[in-house]
Order: sequence, then C-alpha cells, then structure tokens
Amino acid sequence: MRHRAEKLELLIAEEDLRRRCRELGEEITADYAGEEIHVIGVLKGACVFVADLIREIDLDLSLDFLGLSSYGSRTESSGVVRMTSDLSVPIKGRHVVVVEDIVDTGLTMKYLLENLRTRMPESLEVCTLLHKPSNAKVEVPLKYVGFEIADEFVIGYGLDDAEYSRHLPYVGYVPQSES
Ligand code: 5GP
Repeated sequence: MRHRAEKLELLIAEEDLRRRCRELGEEITADYAGEEIHVIGVLKGACVFVADLIREIDLDLSLDFLGLSSYGSRTESSGVVRMTSDLSVPIKGRHVVVVEDIVDTGLTMKYLLENLRTRMPESLEVCTLLHKPSNAKVEVPLKYVGFEIADEFVIGYGLDDAEYSRHLPYVGYVPQSES
C-alpha cells in the first residue's frame, strides 16, 4: 500500500501553507492594484493551492483551468508534455497569472508559457507553490514562489503519488528507505 500517508515525513505543515497563501495573495493584490487578473490553475496538481490562493486575493479575478500531463517515470520528468484539457476562454489582452503546484526541471512550465504566449495575453506571470531549484534544466521566470525545497519527491496538498494522496492537507515526502 504505497499510497498510505503514514509513510510520509512532514515537509510543510498546514498552518505554514495557509500563512504562505495569505502572503502570496497579499503580494499579488498589491502588484496588480487597480487591474483585473485572470488566474489559470494547472490541473491536476494545483487544484488545492489555487483554491486557497484565490481566496486571499482582493482583486477582480476570473479563474480558468487547463490540464497538463507530463510523460516520464514517477520521479523523473521527460519534458514531453500533453495538454489534457484546454482553457475555456481566450486570454488575449488579459493579465494572466498561471498557478502551478511545483516547478522541478522547469520543462513543463517552459512548454506551457510558450503555448500561452502565442495567445497574446497582456501580461503573463507564474505563481508556483513549490520550486526545486537544484533540478532546473531550463530557466523559467517564476514571479511568485511559495517555498523552495530540496530534491525530494513530495506528496499532498494537490501533489499526487501515482494519483493518490492529493487530498492530504500538508506536503510530505517519502523517506529514501520507503521509496
Ligand atoms: P517539471 O520537471 O517539468 O518542472 O515538472 C513536471 C511535473 O512533474 C510537475 O508539474 C509535477 O506534476 C511533477 N512533479 C515534479 N516534482 C514532483 C514531486 O516532487 N512530486 C509530485 N507529486 N509531482 C512532481
């Protein structure tokens, strides 16, 4: 039963996630004062984060989602990305904030930003909950980062372990001996 939560070590506690969401929400609210923003949540991993984050943003805001799935093994990104569902409305001329769960090699985000830029938004920024800087293979502009973490495979708060455990209210990792 690889998906049982009791095998996880705690990395980021619920209250720290809540506090960081509040801080990021305040930062985004200040940066876009007087503007409307269009938030794009990247499914499935960002589902929990985007729901918490938008409730901390005090602006006129619209929300859309797109689905991405990257090929590769459980812990290794291949950089080959498939769009599993597209946006429901155009983003041309809008201030877009892409909300992602984690940027690891950066390959997925690079693909996504290139795709979104062709649709001519007024501005395009990224807010990621987690960033693993030690794994970066490409440079991607990350305006808002919740937490920089070490190279661990993390689970919970939207992040899955082979589709399980997205519902955990904290972020944990599997200790090496258990993975
Ligand atoms: P990339 O390497 O392209 O930056 O990340 C590819 C995707 O791999 C991410 O969007 C995320 O879905 C997944 N991923 C990367 N690192 C982790 C991790 O530590 N845990 C989980 N659950 N998914 C990860």
